[in-house]
Amino acid sequence: MTETNFRAELDDDGLLSVVWDMPGRSMNVLTADAIQELSGIVDRVIAEEAIRGVVISSGKKAFSGGADLTMLEGIARLYERERAQSGETAAAQAVFDESRKLSQLYRRIETSGKPWAIAIRGVCLGGAFELALACHYRVAANDGSTRVGLPEVKVGLFPGAGGTQRVARLLPPQDALQMLMKGEQIRPDKARAMRLVDEVAPEAEIVDRAKAWLKTAPKAVKPWDEKGFKLPGGPVWSKGGFMTFPPANAIYRRETQGNYPNIFAMLQAVFEGLQLPMDLALTVESRLFAKVLRSPEAAAMIRTLFVSMQELNKGARRPAGVAKSALKKVGVVGAGFMGAGVGYVTAQAGIEVVLVDRDQAAADKGKEFARALISGQVAKGRATGAERDALLGRITATDDYGALGDCDLVIEAVFEDPKVKAEVIAKVEAALKPEAIFASNTSTLPISGLAKHSSRPERFVGIHFFSPVEKMMLVEVIEGEKTGDEALAVALDYVAAIRKTPIVVKDSRGFFANRCVIAYMLEGHLMLTEGVPAAMIENVAKQAGMPVGPLSLNDEVALDLGLKILNATKAQLGEQAVNPAQETLLRRLVETEGRLGRKNGKGFYDYPEGGKKSLWPGLAEVVEAKLDPDAIDVAELRDRFLVAQALDAARTVEEGVISDMREADVGAILGFGFAPFTGGPLSWIDGMGAKAFVAKAQALEAKHGARFAPNSLLFDLADTGETFYGRFAGPAKAAA
Ligand code: NAD
Repeated sequence: MTETNFRAELDDDGLLSVVWDMPGRSMNVLTADAIQELSGIVDRVIAEEAIRGVVISSGKKAFSGGADLTMLEGIARLYERERAQSGETAAAQAVFDESRKLSQLYRRIETSGKPWAIAIRGVCLGGAFELALACHYRVAANDGSTRVGLPEVKVGLFPGAGGTQRVARLLPPQDALQMLMKGEQIRPDKARAMRLVDEVAPEAEIVDRAKAWLKTAPKAVKPWDEKGFKLPGGPVWSKGGFMTFPPANAIYRRETQGNYPNIFAMLQAVFEGLQLPMDLALTVESRLFAKVLRSPEAAAMIRTLFVSMQELNKGARRPAGVAKSALKKVGVVGAGFMGAGVGYVTAQAGIEVVLVDRDQAAADKGKEFARALISGQVAKGRATGAERDALLGRITATDDYGALGDCDLVIEAVFEDPKVKAEVIAKVEAALKPEAIFASNTSTLPISGLAKHSSRPERFVGIHFFSPVEKMMLVEVIEGEKTGDEALAVALDYVAAIRKTPIVVKDSRGFFANRCVIAYMLEGHLMLTEGVPAAMIENVAKQAGMPVGPLSLNDEVALDLGLKILNATKAQLGEQAVNPAQETLLRRLVETEGRLGRKNGKGFYDYPEGGKKSLWPGLAEVVEAKLDPDAIDVAELRDRFLVAQALDAARTVEEGVISDMREADVGAILGFGFAPFTGGPLSWIDGMGAKAFVAKAQALEAKHGARFAPNSLLFDLADTGETFYGRFAGPAKAAA
């Protein structure tokens, strides 16, 4: 058999060198083709006596990111097809058979009778690391880019090609469960200490070291296939096992609120698998994997958090026909909280940064922020001193607008004050070269309004970051009325360069993410005024799948900012645009009690210095209403949180603020943590069907008022039985 994805060469020592190097791809992926070819190689290794051992490595910069998730999506779809044709049992069997092929292939490697060594450089994740775990010896490069790990849990799956079984036989069970549950990428030294790899070596030597090990004529049998094998933490039914598994179950509940069946199935696979010999254990793992693969959570998470996100990262919304821009120098005006962060992430991407503020001291302060962040990375061993110096060398802090002259893009992050912004726009444009793009990081001022102060509104765009900039992966690119394709393309090229995920949003109040998250916080505020205990509000929000309760979240953003936005809304749209109960609550907290949130140590919570935050007991006096907690319908509270946000997401589609469904779902999860297991608000609605969602919203409307009224697009979808993704597939046009 001739392979196209692998090169196999037998040397004089009888060692078969297998180099994985898929044509036309920058990264190796486990596709159906690649799996078939690897299977052929395994046959050859078993059959040819001359082959004494195998070393597998990659011809690319990295080893591999793992399995092709679209292939896994295809297997999940097979179920529906088979069920229609041949019934439930045959369909389940077909998914089981298909989804365990990789697991069986890896087991054949492990039991081939010949030793397999693997040389890893760059990332080796998911199904690729499961291949490594099946090999008998693992050498990893000790360079900055090498990482191993099993991140499957992050897309609603779990490592189903032997990963759960091999990790749990290599590591003590607590460490194994933690590694599997977190899905983190692990550095070579740590992986060596955990016994996930056997040797760490300079990048240039990894293949030779693997060969050297093979030349020692090692035994090609894994410890767990030998008689008398003992699990690292002792048997499941032992004191050690009792210390691990019942708490693991509780941790699962605490961390997931029971929303992630994949993680539960993974725990089950480990618990049951460790009580069985390897082959049976792998069968148990496969059964659970097949079940998880068919779950709606896995389908939703794979689509949004892998497929859609990758498409957006690759420029799905970039206007075709505009040449790709290579940004060499970017200006950031306003070196405060946001500007300093923008400067840091830009310099980190290798781009020169001119950081401008009103005076030199303010500009220097912004650069100091970058110094503190990168120094922290150096201290943690995540960056070198040379990388720190190079990064800081790329940032020029100045009060001279003239220094912006050769910037390709300038992002302003000055005070949220239209007058200050207008002045800054004029000053920057006076210094800019004609082809440069101007971007504003405003969170509340309309881009089209700000662009009125520009002499070249077609080169004016919004680039809206979330705080903290260095951590948040979402960036909203806001199209003003006159924003041209080139400005949009440059903004998207910039977001790609700093390795964040962009969504393109039409100019409107709150853009997309803030608009939905404001609806979430409003619900928390109103529940409080109705007499729902604060602790219950926070806990139920987490049960619904939100990462942070609405009251905590509001404390982080600042209560006075919430009040400011409320005041501005009232001034622009009138009294009826704000909720009076919310207004009374915020006024009391901010104006009477001086509670501004975490920033002054008191908001809905108290923040004692050096201590743990706790809900402010005074809330009981601020709110007179009290409900009996046992009489509260918790399911209804959960619905309120998600429905309120999903309704706003649906409205943004109808209004044309969002024109691509992928952007709403990806933006909601990355921007404000909308229950990730749903795949995002539109996937959530599609999953239950617009009809069921409309019924849910109407029930809430009857009880809680017009904010839960479904919009006409939802009624329409409910009538026709369509879904958001069905009607607006791909880069869709606005509903209108
Ligand atoms: P900030 O007050 O921390 O920083 C503003 C900076 O702008 C200050 O350093 C100030 O000295 C500087 N500045 C003011 N006038 C200037 C001028 N004429 N020339 C040069 N510099 C000037 O504010 P921030 O929180 O960083 O917000 C900045 C912008 O980012 C605002 O438009 C805000 O709406 C937006 N934003 C903020 C957040 C957030 O979470 N804070 C999130 C997204 C967007």
